[in-house]
Amino acid sequence: MSYDESVITASHRSERAAWSIIVHGGAGDVPTGRIPKHVAGCERAVAVGAGILRAGGTALDAVEAAVAALEDDPLFNAGTGACLNAEEHIELDAAIMDGTGLRAGGVCALPPFLHPIAIARKLLEEGRHVLLAGEGAAQYALRHGFERADEATMITELARRRLAAVRANKAEAGWAGGTVGAVARDANGRLAAATSTGGMVDKLPGRVGDSPIIGAGTYADDALGACSTTGHGEAMMRIVAAKTAVDHVQSATNGEAALRRMLATMHARTGQRGGAIIVGRDGSIGLARTTKTMSWALVQDTRSASGA
Ligand code: ASP
Repeated sequence: MSYDESVITASHRSERAAWSIIVHGGAGDVPTGRIPKHVAGCERAVAVGAGILRAGGTALDAVEAAVAALEDDPLFNAGTGACLNAEEHIELDAAIMDGTGLRAGGVCALPPFLHPIAIARKLLEEGRHVLLAGEGAAQYALRHGFERADEATMITELARRRLAAVRANKAEAGWAGGTVGAVARDANGRLAAATSTGGMVDKLPGRVGDSPIIGAGTYADDALGACSTTGHGEAMMRIVAAKTAVDHVQSATNGEAALRRMLATMHARTGQRGGAIIVGRDGSIGLARTTKTMSWALVQDTRSASGA
């Protein structure tokens, strides 16, 4: 079945490369004046991941480090700066996947910790479980040496204003924008994906979005590609967005085309919008969105680019 691709508001692709990394700073509607800051945040984070790849490090280490940098940046809805739920608390979702051996780890509805992606990575390395939720995830983190964060230091003025605006019906309710993600290919052909978010503004406590769900928000398979999605989480879960996009790589001409097909399908079937990034097994990169903005930055062995 083919769907109308006129809903795609922007897309981009780059050629094959020995190693590649791209990060996104969330699909949404960032006001024009703030876009340069979002792009600069993505550029800083992708540089961290690119440094690891340039030195011969793994795709898995690169996406984890890039996402951790974005979790530290208060501009984005992940880690510090995450959006507030209906009880004015932060609950965090994150996942990471290694395309070699399909290893994966995720945490969801996690109380405040500075780097949910690092806890997800720990779970991936242990290999016993793929996803831990809420207080169980927090206990796991504490047992492995992570410290609970002081929630007050992670809540930004912007997050408070956003919640107030949604409650006063002055801003669109729903997903916050500013979710972060990264996908990479290392020089040895290994692929990895990582995604981290605070989810939706004013969400019910316990709500879990697509980001930490393997196949919905995050997916990596060395044989095909690695994808991180952002946008309306419930819709992303319904169409199993990241795995669907990776599967499309088999029949699409390139990763960008695979994302366009996935996002057009999501819009046709659910009426919802979002964006995604993808890296192919040849190191080529694709991105696409159906939203007004999605900040991003990429670095490959011989080139770099960024935008929103
Ligand atoms: N997909 C995220 C969620 O629903 C939100 C976003 O990407 O902005 O939790």
